[in-house]
Amino acid sequence: MFKEPTYLDNHSTTKLDPKVLDAMMPFLTNNYGNSASQHYFGYVSSEAISIARKKIAVLINSSDEEIIFTSGATESNNLALKGIVDSYKSQGNHIITTKIEHSSIIDVCKKLEQKGIIVTYLSVDKTGMIDLLELQNSITDKTILVSIIFGNNEIGTIQQIQKISDICHSKGVLLHTDATQVIGQLNVDVRELNIDLMSFTSHKIHGPKGIGALFIKQTTPKILISALIDGGGHEKNIRSGTLNVPAIVGFGKAAEIAKSELLTNSNFVKNLRDKFETKLQLIDGIKINGNINSRLVNNSNITIPNIKIKNLMRKVKSVAFSTHAACSTMDGNISHVLNAIGLNKNEIESSARFGFSKMNTEKEIIEAADSLINAIKELQNSSTHIISHTNISNN
Ligand code: PMP
Repeated sequence: MFKEPTYLDNHSTTKLDPKVLDAMMPFLTNNYGNSASQHYFGYVSSEAISIARKKIAVLINSSDEEIIFTSGATESNNLALKGIVDSYKSQGNHIITTKIEHSSIIDVCKKLEQKGIIVTYLSVDKTGMIDLLELQNSITDKTILVSIIFGNNEIGTIQQIQKISDICHSKGVLLHTDATQVIGQLNVDVRELNIDLMSFTSHKIHGPKGIGALFIKQTTPKILISALIDGGGHEKNIRSGTLNVPAIVGFGKAAEIAKSELLTNSNFVKNLRDKFETKLQLIDGIKINGNINSRLVNNSNITIPNIKIKNLMRKVKSVAFSTHAACSTMDGNISHVLNAIGLNKNEIESSARFGFSKMNTEKEIIEAADSLINAIKELQNSSTHIISHTNISNN
């Protein structure tokens, strides 16, 4: 009988929490009103959106007016960068980011460069951390925005956002962070961290896909941001389009659960990850990537000597994992993140990303580790394993 593989690709997306589905159901069926309509059906939807917005705001300790709904973190990142650059172009033409951003930052930066914006890509050390001094020295009087990924989606490295924020604000520069992978794993308090703009998404916290948010701090003077999508003036004229009520309700529920379960889940998931890594370390020469002291609790990115991960993926069908993020900006499906931390092509091709969640069990993690270890040993022993050049796509 077919047995579903063990899902260890939780950086890519997560399984919908059944409680989230329950919360969404009425808005996929009877409560179908457009939240902008001025009648009963509209009021039911707009009330549900207000409640969801509050729950999302509570999760990051913002006010609900500071949450703008988007279609996901890709759009939030696009909106933050393009929107700020367009609004502040008279004040400067320089932005700063890192070499290990998600493609929805890197690709936007490449486009902005074509339009005359100067972009500094900060390098990272071998653990994936940026150099704070390099950041400080890169800020000029033309810098209008710093955008730095909070927790990396491949190697899990968590940046020192508090210190980064202090540097940006001491120089009067806005800070945006892509917190997509951090939300739900770590307590993120936008007030305490003094973040100006922050992207995140629902489907990484067991919510539905296709819905995300951009937090924009309310300050005086107001942060100005040009819209990418114009239309009916929804979301304070920053993001027009009929609101996706069921998805927003689901995102709200997922945020509420993420907040209430944060400590339990992060301890649980960390324990799974640590058990998994302890087992895999039985293989000679295994190397854990990322910053061991500042890493997402659900992340394990490992380099396994003398094998190609593509071959391991073909051999171990009982475990769903990935080589790296889908949205790599480098040619040949080579991870730009692993490249930035100094891995060579061979090491990159021998690296795998595993992502854990509250939906995993200890039993399946142990079984997954055992299957992987057996397959790795076989591959390492066989001198004939084929180095294929087929691309494997990931999410
Ligand atoms: N940023 C990071 C760090 C991510 O991991 C992802 C999802 N892979 C995104 C942005 C894009 O999120 P979404 O799928 O919601 O567009």
